[in-house]
Amino acid sequence: MTEHTKTDGLPGMDMPVVAEAGNAFGKAPPRNERMSTAKVECNACPVLCQISDGRTGACDRYANKEGVLVRVDPVVLLRRQVEADAPALVPFNRAPDEAAAAGTDVAAPDWNGDLLHADEVFVTGVGSSTTYPDYKPAPFIVASKAKGVDMVTVVTEGIFSYCSFKVKIDTDRFLGSEQANVRYRGEVVGHVTTAEYGSQMLSLGGVHHLTGGSKKEGRMTAELMQLLGNKKAVECTIDGGSTLVIQAGKAPIVNGVEEQRMRVGCGSAAVGIFARQFAGVADEVVVVDDHITGVLTEHQAGRCLDMSPSGIQMLGRKSTPGRYFQVANPGNGWGGTDIADPLAIIEAGKRAWPAPACACS
Ligand code: SF4
Repeated sequence: MTEHTKTDGLPGMDMPVVAEAGNAFGKAPPRNERMSTAKVECNACPVLCQISDGRTGACDRYANKEGVLVRVDPVVLLRRQVEADAPALVPFNRAPDEAAAAGTDVAAPDWNGDLLHADEVFVTGVGSSTTYPDYKPAPFIVASKAKGVDMVTVVTEGIFSYCSFKVKIDTDRFLGSEQANVRYRGEVVGHVTTAEYGSQMLSLGGVHHLTGGSKKEGRMTAELMQLLGNKKAVECTIDGGSTLVIQAGKAPIVNGVEEQRMRVGCGSAAVGIFARQFAGVADEVVVVDDHITGVLTEHQAGRCLDMSPSGIQMLGRKSTPGRYFQVANPGNGWGGTDIADPLAIIEAGKRAWPAPACACS
C-alpha cells in the first residue's frame, strides 16, 4: 500500500511516524493483496479507494499522481506557516518511544499549543481538512473554555455525502406543501422546506438521499446537485404540487410558465414597502397573500400616511390592524393563493366600497 506522502498543504514534509498495523491511527494493510501495482490505495477514510494513475478517489480529494498519493486541493494554511520566519506549529502527539525514534519531543516545549488565542475567541468551526471524524484524527482540534465549559472543536471536511442545497424559488405560484417530496427523474431528492422571506424553499440532496436510499436515488441526487451547482437547468416535480424547471440566476419555470415577477414578501410587507406608491392612487389597496394579507388604510403604513380607513371587512383571522391570516389557501390565483375573484375575500354583505376605487394585487 502506498501511504500518504504529504500531509495537507505540506509538500515535501516528512511523513508522520505511523504505528504498525493494528493501531487505530496507523497504517492499515491493503484490502486486496492482488491490487494492481499501478494503483495506490488511499486510507484517509474507510472507503479505501484504489486509485489508478491520473485518477482521483471517490471524493475527488486525493489522487494518484505517477504512483504517489497526493492531495488535490491542499489546505495551504500550514504551508504558509512552514514558510513563515517563525512558524507556529503544533506537532502531532506521539508516543514517547516514537518521538524518540523520530528525534523529536512529544510536544513542543516552547509553545502551549494555543493556536487561536482560545481564551480570546469562541471557536465554533474553522476551515476544514481531511476526512470526517473517523479512525484518523482531524488535523485541527481546538480546545477552548467558554464560561467554564470545556469546548473541543474538531474541524473536518464535509465530503460529498453530506452536501446539500437550499434552493430559493422566487415565485408567487404555489409549488407544493411544506415537507412534500421533490423528485428528479422519478427519484426523491429532497423536500419543500420552510418558506423564507417571501420565497419558497427547497432542501435538496443530503446524506439520506445521496447514500441512504437506493443507488438510483443517490445517483439522481448527485446528478441534480452537479447540474444545479454548475448553473444548469433541471426539471423537478413536487408531490402534490408543481413541476419546476430551476436554474441558478434564471427565473423559475412553474408548470411550463416562466415566472415574470417575484414575491417581495407577504401582503403586509408589500403594503409597508409600497405604501407611498399606493397612496393617492387608490382609496384602498388589498395585497392578497396566502400568509398575511395586507389592507393599506388599516395597516400602520396607511396610518403613517394619514389615510382614512376604508372600512372594508376582510375574511380570515385578523392579526393586527391591516394584517390578516388565513384569508386564502396557497394556489395559483391572486397573490399565490387559490383566489380567482379578489372580491371573494371580503366579507359578504360588506362589499360596497365606501370609497369609489379599490385596487387588489
Ligand atoms: S479520502 Fe477520498 S480518496 Fe481517500 S479513501 Fe476516502 S473517498 Fe477514497
